Amino acid sequence: MKLHFYGTGASEGVPSLFCSCPVCQRVRALGPQEYRSRTSCGIDDELLVDFSSDTFDHMRTGGLDLTRIRTILFTHAHPDHFYPEDLVRLAPHYAMPDDRPGIDVYGSETIARRIAAQGGPKPGDYLRMHVIRPMESFAAGGYDVRALPAQHDPKQDCFLYRIRKEGKTLLYAHDTAYFSEETWEALSGEHLDCVVLDCTCCAKPSHFDGHMGFPENLKVKERLCSMGAADANTLFVATHFVHSDNPIREELEAVMAPHGFIAAYDGMELEV
Ligand SMILES: [Zn+2]
Ligand SMILES: [Zn+2]
Ligand SMILES: [Zn+2]
Repeated sequence: MKLHFYGTGASEGVPSLFCSCPVCQRVRALGPQEYRSRTSCGIDDELLVDFSSDTFDHMRTGGLDLTRIRTILFTHAHPDHFYPEDLVRLAPHYAMPDDRPGIDVYGSETIARRIAAQGGPKPGDYLRMHVIRPMESFAAGGYDVRALPAQHDPKQDCFLYRIRKEGKTLLYAHDTAYFSEETWEALSGEHLDCVVLDCTCCAKPSHFDGHMGFPENLKVKERLCSMGAADANTLFVATHFVHSDNPIREELEAVMAPHGFIAAYDGMELEV
């Protein structure tokens, strides 16, 4: 399973548009390799987890080829993960030829409602919408997927995804605060090869509702290892970094590497 991290910033991206904090100033001075766009992660160049307001930029500078994407899993309906305005580009006239295969989209009722409200391709045409519920398992484009409840926004269903293919298992876990007991129970009996975690703030416990900081990431790792769902071979990745509570890439990596964590960055590829 190949992961491609197209966007690794929190909702405002890094640098934040109007911000002159020390981090944003350093990031602007260092240049685009330090920038963090809004969230999206590709798997094997055929499945996308989230489709954000920066998707055009992921195509322009990140090598994302949307004509190869067959499946999109949506974690939740916040605009740094979900940008239905550009899903209308699946409709005829925007996309050709007419006999292309289209895309299967999986997400909550909120996602489905907002896609329908957007107009564009009719369900069943080029965008086949599949509404999923917490704890549901389903097959999506050759992947065995289970949607687990995230602790993020009580006004909508938010999902973590357990994604498996050819004996490799990924837990894709953001946006979320520390997991609920229901999610921990669902993870018992799993063996995870890679765990991607919400790490909105690196240096301290999260002070953002519905998100984790690095201290909570360490607790998640410890519990997964103690219950046998992860071990020394499991890759742990932190992502979804906010501008105000994280240093530049090199310093972030120096904090995380001693704890066995990879700090994701835009354009990072990982073989699981
Ligand atoms: Zn987010
Ligand atoms: Zn800033
Ligand atoms: Zn969110």
